[in-house]
Amino acid sequence: MSFGNTLELVKAAQAGGYAIPAVNIVDELSMRAVVEAAEQAKSAIILQTSVKTVKASGAEPLAFLAHYLADRSSVPVALHLDHCPDRAVITTAVNNGWSSVLFDASDRDFDDAVRETAEVCEEAHAKGLSVESEIENIVGVEDGVGSDEIKHAYSVATLVQAAQATGTDLLAPQLGTAHGLYKADPVLRFDRVSEIRKISDIPVVLHGGTGLSADDFAKFISAGVSKINISTALKLAYMKSAQAYLAECEKTGKWEPVKMFDAIKNALVTEIGAHIALFGSGGKA
Ligand SMILES: [Zn+2]
Repeated sequence: MSFGNTLELVKAAQAGGYAIPAVNIVDELSMRAVVEAAEQAKSAIILQTSVKTVKASGAEPLAFLAHYLADRSSVPVALHLDHCPDRAVITTAVNNGWSSVLFDASDRDFDDAVRETAEVCEEAHAKGLSVESEIENIVGVEDGVGSDEIKHAYSVATLVQAAQATGTDLLAPQLGTAHGLYKADPVLRFDRVSEIRKISDIPVVLHGGTGLSADDFAKFISAGVSKINISTALKLAYMKSAQAYLAECEKTGKWEPVKMFDAIKNALVTEIGAHIALFGSGGKA
């Protein structure tokens, strides 16, 4: 299977009434596990990297492995750069074979956010990448990016106009969700997705998915969300399976890293498989 085009995958999901899972991977092991889960479910998949992961692993090795896995996979695999306010890192992704980037301009005031998003779209489109845009804050801090307070919030009409003016391909609006684990029940804004759908066909992305119920996901998808980001759920499954394995090593006195990798991989395949089932993307690729 060839390397996935993010916009095409998300447009297919939009037309088919389901959502493509976009999973934040942290290393080679999690990349392999997420692709395996997608193959088992016959779902297209988007591998996402935070800026922190790009800096930790390097853009070239990440892109190489994503292309390697995509070439050998039975399903489309795309590579997306998640929340990136740093133009230099956007350029790195553009020049290293990513499928798409999220230019996170939510820390900029409106005029700067629009001007810079247009510049990023021009740069990315020239190399065949699609651009997800975020100009209002999705609360919560993810891998060092973001804030717990809402600094910028706009009407749905303003968001859509800005997206059209800049050439944005995918829109990440504030939908009441937050990054990380919920401290209180969120007030979910299914209505904002429906409003965007009424005035535009731009695909809508849901962030902060970890902790939402199956019913919440179903409502967001039926309102018109077609890409759903999963980050915290993978981190928890990764670390807790490692913790359980290490506790077992302590008991048995046998310390075998490769077996721990297997335990982590199995936990991730199960976790991501469950999300694919919730998002309805299984059997579509
Ligand atoms: Zn996010």
